[in-house]
Amino acid sequence: MDSLFPESYEASRARFFRDVERVRAKWTSTRLETHPLKNFPELSIDWLWAEPRKKENLVMVSTAEHGIEGYVGSRMLKLFMDEFAPRINPENTGLLLLHAINPWGMKYHYRVNANHVDLNRNFVFEGNYDPGINPDFDLLSNFLNPQRPVRTLRAEAILFLAKVVRNMIYPGRARVQSASLLGQHRNSQGIYFGGRQVQEETAVLMRLYRTALAEYQNFIQMDMHTGYGPRYQMTVIVPPLDPTPSAEATQKFNYPLVQKIDASEFYAISGDMGEYVYRLRDAEFPGKVVFACGFEFGTFGDALPALIRSLRITILENQLRHHGALNPQAEEQVRTEYQELFLPAEAEWREKALADCSQAFHGILSAYGIL
Ligand SMILES: [Zn+2]
Repeated sequence: MDSLFPESYEASRARFFRDVERVRAKWTSTRLETHPLKNFPELSIDWLWAEPRKKENLVMVSTAEHGIEGYVGSRMLKLFMDEFAPRINPENTGLLLLHAINPWGMKYHYRVNANHVDLNRNFVFEGNYDPGINPDFDLLSNFLNPQRPVRTLRAEAILFLAKVVRNMIYPGRARVQSASLLGQHRNSQGIYFGGRQVQEETAVLMRLYRTALAEYQNFIQMDMHTGYGPRYQMTVIVPPLDPTPSAEATQKFNYPLVQKIDASEFYAISGDMGEYVYRLRDAEFPGKVVFACGFEFGTFGDALPALIRSLRITILENQLRHHGALNPQAEEQVRTEYQELFLPAEAEWREKALADCSQAFHGILSAYGIL
């Protein structure tokens, strides 16, 4: 079994600092930078700039925008540093390797940051955190955001299923899925809360994007996520602003599953980080080439029962953070199930995830002439 999935945020960060030294030896000019969180100075966002002589291409690999997903992300970042960085030409291609966009969430095994904000709903272009998006969220509020402590999974199961059945009839599956996943800026205790202002972590990334697009002609980002999609097939997810149709991208990258982040293929997101990069390019850096994708390692699966299971644990974990649990057993069950949604323990899952990641790194970097 692959033992390189880290056990803690600290172990993961320490390993990142060791691994970047090998990368630094190959590039003549490198900078290791850090941003300690204001309220948690022992936790930091850390990144390496490896600069080529000629700034043609920049490859960015980033992890833990959703903190708890950073354990799989860390493993994939290590894969990139071990097997792909050595094959990249330091004359014309730079690297931006970023460990833990959301270090607080990674350390404490949450998806959100310390303000309960989902950072991948916080990259709102030009700061318009419109409370009016996602009107169905209020309609479904009783279902999505129960105002009471969580019970054991067995006790919650029947209650939850009854609500699911009711809501599948009205307003229906499509609206339930869209309302729960799109993001929202109204209810700071609700699921997928995108915040009402730019978060500290978001601001750090926005500055990095501006530097990257100002200095390099071609910018490629691969950002690591887990949770959604088929269990044994990682999905490369691409913002809707990217002009290449998914079927074409599948061929271009020689990778079997590429999807657009919209309701017809994956699901729609407001305030998505990748989408922000395209908007920034269009507004301030026209002429630059951008490809900003996510690697989404599916865990529970994409059949209806798996989607219901994912939504249930998403609701229960949020409920636990805001209202606590009726007893320690209930809390333990919710945390275990939540961990399994973002970091599956199964050896077979981990091996396939690594193989998919390797295939996608190879396909994308080859398509852009970097490998
Ligand atoms: Zn994620």
